[in-house]
Amino acid sequence: MHLIKNKNLILNSSFVNGEWLVSDSTFEVFNPATGKAIAQISEVTSLEVENAINSAAKAFEEWKLTSYQQRSDILLKWQKLLREHSQDLARILTSEQGKPLSEAVGEILHSADYIKIYAEQAHLFIEPINQDAPLNQQAKIYRKSIGVVTAITPWNFPCSMVARKAGAALAAGCSFVLKPSELTPLSALALAKLGEQAGIPAGVFNVVVGSNAQAIGEIFTSHPKIAKFSFTGSTIVGKRLLAQCANGVKRTAMELGGNAPFIVFEDADIDEAVEGAWVAKFRNSGQTCVTANRFIIHKNIKQEFVKKLIEKIKQLKMGCGFDSENSLGPLVNQRAIDKISGLVNKAKEEGANILLGGHSFEKDDCKKGTFFEATVIDNVTPQMEIFHKEIFGPVVTLIEFKCEEEAIRLANQTESGLCAYAYTKNEKIISVLNQQLNVGMLGINTARLSNPSAPFGGVKQSGMGREGGSYGIEEYLDYQYVCIR
Ligand code: ADP
Repeated sequence: MHLIKNKNLILNSSFVNGEWLVSDSTFEVFNPATGKAIAQISEVTSLEVENAINSAAKAFEEWKLTSYQQRSDILLKWQKLLREHSQDLARILTSEQGKPLSEAVGEILHSADYIKIYAEQAHLFIEPINQDAPLNQQAKIYRKSIGVVTAITPWNFPCSMVARKAGAALAAGCSFVLKPSELTPLSALALAKLGEQAGIPAGVFNVVVGSNAQAIGEIFTSHPKIAKFSFTGSTIVGKRLLAQCANGVKRTAMELGGNAPFIVFEDADIDEAVEGAWVAKFRNSGQTCVTANRFIIHKNIKQEFVKKLIEKIKQLKMGCGFDSENSLGPLVNQRAIDKISGLVNKAKEEGANILLGGHSFEKDDCKKGTFFEATVIDNVTPQMEIFHKEIFGPVVTLIEFKCEEEAIRLANQTESGLCAYAYTKNEKIISVLNQQLNVGMLGINTARLSNPSAPFGGVKQSGMGREGGSYGIEEYLDYQYVCIR
């Protein structure tokens, strides 16, 4: 944290109704590259969480009446401040999350892009829609801000997950109460500081930080003043929160886990596919919901693909994200290491071959860091546990196919449906993939899907709702049909 120039961005308590709360009880945040504590954070109390929601409800009454232009101006200032402070924000992010600094800078700029897009697109929803109506009637459809939104975000993208939700909600005229992951609360608090500076009115954007996620989650999903609950995280926690929302019939958005297939057809450009595999698998050490989880490769090109991929992986340097030579950072904590080691060992027992890596890794300079080697596992089958689990780490699993139908069947053989990647030059195959892959997002000959204007989200157990562009804003609006005679 010593590398951060603007110390005002280092905050250690909840931000509620424009005030920074303090308490005696604290929890620690660790740098996963070193295992060292980097901050002591004040624990929020249940009463303060309720106060945050009540403040948001009060602030909503005025915020929803502001003009689109006022909201847009504030959001544009906010995103500008993110850009101005991108280096410091990235250092905060790398300190608490571990990813290489260059990736952290990318995440900050991407967050700013999301807020900018929302600021520019909210005007699309001002005008009522005139609908066809019988004689002597006028039918108008108004879009109204839905109200107070609560959100829980994960640790893998501690800045962009917040920007993606809060930017859209605020653009739509909603007020917002956030609980970031207790593993990475510092980025969200720095965002709140910059939001305050940008002129977001008190109570419109609140951040509560605490280590008791379950207790905060219960209030976030049940409080009577909440209109919508938005979650990004694991499927198992998402299901539980969805059930909690049912009682109050809260609107929900769920961005849950993925199990992305990465299919390489026989006619693919192998070098491009290897490059894409590398991006889709090793960005953020494989800790993203859109990471390629299962590499489904045509049998005639598999040997070449694997050889080239392993050569490329061997160039990866693993270590602390602050060293610019390193492109593979640590995993978030020991729990992640244990989970991945367990999956890899089980796959071995079930008959898979470890071609590379397979172990946690100790760096001389970061003894307590939670690193896991880049790993490649061959002969994986749908009968194995690893085929069905979201690995969330730098592990490539290889599955062979012989024909197009088999590739599609294998790709769809999962409860998840977030995204898929495919490499082929064949237009016919591309069109079949569009029709038959059950996913919310599909990358053809590219692993770089990210686009703040596009709808991000999944189908099946990967969740519901979309973030990004006008689609994201629409999630925070309700339709009201008015019939005038
Ligand atoms: P992961 O397993 O990748 O850490 P989680 O789904 O556990 O993902 O965490 C994502 C977010 O959900 C974090 O902010 C975490 O604090 C929160 N969370 C975890 N468990 C619960 C719960 N029972 N209720 C509410 N929030 C939770």
